[in-house]
Amino acid sequence: MKESVLIVGSMAFDDLEMPYGTFNDVLGGAATYAAIAASSFSPVRVVGVVGDDFPGPVLQQLAARGVDIAGVERAPGKTFRWHGRYAQDLGSRETIHTALNVFADFRPKIPASYATSPYLLLGNIHPALQLQVLEQVERPKLVVADTMNLWIHTERKTLGELLRKVDVLSINDEEAKDLTGHGMLRKAADEIRALGPKRVIIKKGEHGAAIFDDEGVFFVPAYPLEVLRDPTGAGDSFAGALLGVLAGLGRTDGAAIRQAMIVASTVASFGVEGLGPERLLSLDRPALAERLQAFESMMNYGGPLPALP
Ligand code: AMP
Repeated sequence: MKESVLIVGSMAFDDLEMPYGTFNDVLGGAATYAAIAASSFSPVRVVGVVGDDFPGPVLQQLAARGVDIAGVERAPGKTFRWHGRYAQDLGSRETIHTALNVFADFRPKIPASYATSPYLLLGNIHPALQLQVLEQVERPKLVVADTMNLWIHTERKTLGELLRKVDVLSINDEEAKDLTGHGMLRKAADEIRALGPKRVIIKKGEHGAAIFDDEGVFFVPAYPLEVLRDPTGAGDSFAGALLGVLAGLGRTDGAAIRQAMIVASTVASFGVEGLGPERLLSLDRPALAERLQAFESMMNYGGPLPALP
């Protein structure tokens, strides 16, 4: 039987200002993206909070994909809302406004039936809340955490406490630089690993992602797309797919993590082809398998390197 992934994080409405138009009330949130991506590979449990404005049919759509939504709390008030504006080339974005709404009082409550989930994704929320989640679960086989610049700058001590308790930190290159002061990936990764996590995954957007651990360094490229529509949630869908694949395989070893990173990069490449999570929601096995094959051939250089001429 496939093992379960527990995902804790934000569920949101996003207002997205894209170079090609403005889109309001787009389904978003780190936990939402991660859960949709993970649910292609294993059973998923989500802990998050939504307001009374969050449409029931959206939760039902998640449930229909095998996402257990019993841990999604519905609180009186409005759902968390993030308003972002992307640059012309979609390569960067700025936050125009964040309305925490019901997320402001979010205290993750892990249902008793979720406490033994073997795979745990701590989405980007206050590190004190991430620690509260760890206190409520039996030691999972694998804990992966995400964070963001805000917590790196304002909650350094608590983040340090969290880092001592996670197996993998999955962050982007800017965050790695903020956390360590090093722009050189290897140096940043070594320093982060000294703070606790055995493995560090550093995501570099359209340049792929790298893992640093005792087994060495491994790079996975990003799939070269013809159309990029919305990069929102790419890191979350990467992390969700990673955990989903590992839970589906029941493995946590370095080789499995590397293989799962290839699938995760592929899934994330679909995610950014659509606005919000729409493309992830319509993704089927044949399309995924076809792109995975293309991905494999992209990484295949025809056998071992020859001796230098
Ligand atoms: P990403 O593009 O991977 O950074 O993820 C973007 C998603 O994270 C959006 O759907 C937002 O709703 C959500 N988000 C933005 N800001 C925050 C925040 N401060 N805390 C939690 N989630 C956030």
